[in-house]
Formats: sequence, structure tokens, C-alpha cells
Amino acid sequence: MIDFDIRVSDRPLPDAERAEILATPGFGQHFTDHMITMRWSAAGGWHDGRLEPYGSFTLDPATLVFHYGQEFFEGMKAYRQSDGTIALFRPEANAERFNRSARRMEMPEIPVETFVRALELLVSQDRAWVPSTFGESLYLRPFMIATQRTLAFTQPSTSYLFCVIASPATAYFGGGTPRALTVWLSEDYSRAAPGGTGFAKAGGNYAGAYAASRQAVEQGCDQVVWLDSTERRWVEEMGGMNLFFGYGERVMTPSLTGTLLPGVTRDSLLTLAPRLGIEAEEGRISIGQWRKECESGVMTEAFACGTAAVMAPVGTVRGVAKQWLVGDGRPGPVTLRLREELLGIQYGRRPDPLSWVHPV
Ligand code: PMP
Repeated sequence: MIDFDIRVSDRPLPDAERAEILATPGFGQHFTDHMITMRWSAAGGWHDGRLEPYGSFTLDPATLVFHYGQEFFEGMKAYRQSDGTIALFRPEANAERFNRSARRMEMPEIPVETFVRALELLVSQDRAWVPSTFGESLYLRPFMIATQRTLAFTQPSTSYLFCVIASPATAYFGGGTPRALTVWLSEDYSRAAPGGTGFAKAGGNYAGAYAASRQAVEQGCDQVVWLDSTERRWVEEMGGMNLFFGYGERVMTPSLTGTLLPGVTRDSLLTLAPRLGIEAEEGRISIGQWRKECESGVMTEAFACGTAAVMAPVGTVRGVAKQWLVGDGRPGPVTLRLREELLGIQYGRRPDPLSWVHPV
């Protein structure tokens, strides 16, 4: 395994200032005292792994990532357990998705153990930054950028930088009982096409989504729902979350077609639901069907899920010249049961029969 050189900051944020941040962390606004960096070159492979003080990079304006966007990222969390210890949740699943993104972007993979070690080191060093309020957590952002200095678009970069930063986080749409979201069906824009980079966490997928998000906000909606880019009628996922549809004691989520992101939360819920007596399957649903099933009452609830927001009920669906309610527009019982179970496992308040909790 690649080793990390430890360089502890001699100027960590004073306890009182950290406590002030942890009182209302928000999302992605504040960063801990340290970060992980590691470099890759064609000649030397991965090298210079470090835990070092959080700080800026100096990069040449001709660095490849600025021009051709060769980069991708991950998103996961460290959770304060009920006994005060800290744990990651299924970090190997993120490591594997990280490497799938790397392959798609023609970038070097990182051995799973090295990726997990990097996270453990950072979380352990900055453990005082992990909030202790239930529902809050330390969000971890591993990413990789192309660092070769060139404008030639002939081949992928010959050097890369891997970095992990950490940021204390409240639940994305607020803690407590989640508010039901109003979502916008994006009919003008699409997120990913067959053969594209939809299944990878490439930054470009997100840059292209801002225009649709702006429309969503203009329409008074919280989030964008993406449709497939070929027939423009199959529901795929949301801006940063996967979708589930509930029919009484059964839930369905769109299959992984290559154009949507394989969420770790999605996978966890597909596994957990049957253990709670809720049937779970992968399938597909068109916008027409979604509307009809809500109007007829067959669909009783819908929710979005992802690391940042955990699970957010979908209450209202809005598109050009149409709008409908899902169920009674409020968080449904299956959504709330699954959410309680998943959060319970993540925060060490429920048994962890699948060994998903990874103590740090
Ligand atoms: N879809 C997209 C587009 C995302 O960015 C995310 C967040 N990573 C998800 C779904 C949910 O994935 P996860 O459950 O692994 O956070």
C-alpha cells in the first residue's frame, strides 16, 4: 500500500472558532485543518502521498484540467456514532465508483485500500471536526485532476493530483423530518447520453446541469429531474440524487442504464428494503406513467436519495404546462421507515447486519 507522509498543521483553527462553525455547519462552506494529496506520473505511478495542512494549489494557467475538464470526484461522509466514535459508511463502494470514474476519464485508478487509508487518515486527524448532532456529519470530497501543462488535445494528461478535503455538513435539506421537495422535469436539457459520462462523477456532468437548475429555481422548484436523452420520456435521476417510486409496500428505482450515477445510497436502500419487508426492484418509468400513477393513486410516494441529502421525499412534480402531487404531497410512510433505518445504521443506533459501518 502507498504510504502517506504526515505533516500536521501548526496553525489549526482555534477550538472556539471550530465550535462556532460546528454550531451551524451549512454545506460545503467550511473546511477542516488538513487535506490529503498524492501525485501520479507516468514514470513513477502514485507517489508523494501526504496528509498536510489544508491550503491552496498553485497551477500553471495551461494546466490541462482548466481547459478540457479531465477530472472527477467522489462524495461520502464520516458519521459520529452514538458511542462517540467515528465511522465511514461503505467506503469501499465509493472507492470502486472512484475507479470506474477513473477508467471512463482515462485517469489512473487508486487501489481500494489506499483510497480508504487516505480517508481514515484525514478523518482521524481532523476528528474534532465531525459534528456530534444526529443528522450532521463530516462530508468528504476526494477528487482527481489532470495536472499536465499543455493545451494539446492529443492524449490524456501525463500527470495527476489526487486530493481529499473535508467539510462539516448539516443534512442537505435540513435536519429532522424532511420537507417534501417540488421537482422540475427538465425537458429542454439533458444530463447524459448513451456512451457519455453519466455513470462517472465527472465535474462536466455537473457544470452542464446549472442551466437546468436555474430553470428549476425560476419555476419555484428545488431540484431538476433528468429524463433520458434519446426518447426524452424515461425518468432517470435528479441533480445529485437517485429516485425511488413507492407503491404501497413496494419501491422501484430506475435501472443503471449507463446514463445515471450508481448511487451508494440507492444500492444500500435496494438491499435494506427487503429486510424491512418492503419489496424493491429496478425498472423504468416514463413521465406519462408517473403522472397517471399519481392521479390514479397507484403510486403512493416518491423520494430522492443520496449521500448529501440522505433521503428527501418528492411531494410535487412540475413540468411545462403540467403539475401533479405524489401521494398527498407529504413524506410517505415507506420513505420515513427506510430513512430511519439507513440513518440508524450510519449513526450506529441500529444493528449493522451487512457490516457497512467502517470504524475509523
Ligand atoms: N446522482 C447524482 C448525479 C449524484 O451526484 C449523486 C451524489 N453522488 C447521486 C445520484 C447519489 O449518489 P450517492 O448515493 O452515492 O451519494
